[in-house]
Amino acid sequence: MSKLENKTALVTGSSRGIGRATARRLAREGALVAVHYASNAEAAQETVEGIEKEGGRAFTVQAELGVPGDVDTLFEKLTAGLQEHAGEVRLDILVNNAGAMGGQKPEDITPENFDHVIAVNAKAPLFIVQRALPIIPDGGRIINIATGLVRYANPDEIAYSMSKAAIDQISLHFARYLGPRRITVNSVAPGITNNGSPVFDIPEAREFMAGLNAFKQVAEPEDVGDVVAFLASDDARWITGTFVDASGGTLLG
Ligand code: NDP
Repeated sequence: MSKLENKTALVTGSSRGIGRATARRLAREGALVAVHYASNAEAAQETVEGIEKEGGRAFTVQAELGVPGDVDTLFEKLTAGLQEHAGEVRLDILVNNAGAMGGQKPEDITPENFDHVIAVNAKAPLFIVQRALPIIPDGGRIINIATGLVRYANPDEIAYSMSKAAIDQISLHFARYLGPRRITVNSVAPGITNNGSPVFDIPEAREFMAGLNAFKQVAEPEDVGDVVAFLASDDARWITGTFVDASGGTLLG
């Protein structure tokens, strides 16, 4: 039997990149996956079709995060989708993956762009967890996607890194809160990972990015998705409240 047979999962931001690879892996293990996206309906549909081609089950859920009413919209559509595809509203695995990029140099950070990254990367995940708790059964899984930049200084990513440090705190504190229900809560911290952005096609940029990790090659989304799938599995039942470095050794220096 596959490891996640009869489980349901929500992967936010799974139309593309790490989220898509995670959704595909969870589906390959047998989970019914809610493929969430903000605006790229075509990419989300491609994720679902890729999953179905491999014999898995998935459906799309659209909701822009970081705007008023975001979590209400997400859960309205998620619960309708679960009811339709699973026959009940139960969420075994929540992966908070959707993220807004930062990229502002220290002198370019504004209250507006700061508020946006915090709203998408920290505030939305907190309230998604809060809203999911009644439908996550005992023994469920919550996985929050952080970044190696929480532990690696990059002055051009201060606001983004602050938002990701905040999502890591969700793992730490909810892990204790939810321990009695055997719900595990962990952070996964990728390093630079090929998400299909054109920058990964520029040889010099690629070489520079590859040089940052211990393996000297750019990570593929599956390198991170597989780690998330492990944490979602029963094999990881005794791991909670941790920061899992999935940066290919970038943090080794
Ligand atoms: P991508 O940029 O490839 O995809 C982003 C996903 O998030 C898409 O599904 C997108 O939906 C969704 N999304 C973005 N903004 C919003 C929003 N406001 N509301 C709802 N959904 C949104 O992501 P990556 O694979 O690069 O990154 C995934 C996660 O990993 C992020 O949290 C990121 O911070 C983190 N990370 C990534 C690294 C990397 O090098 N790639 C390194 C370290 C951490 P749509 O398709 O509709 O736009």
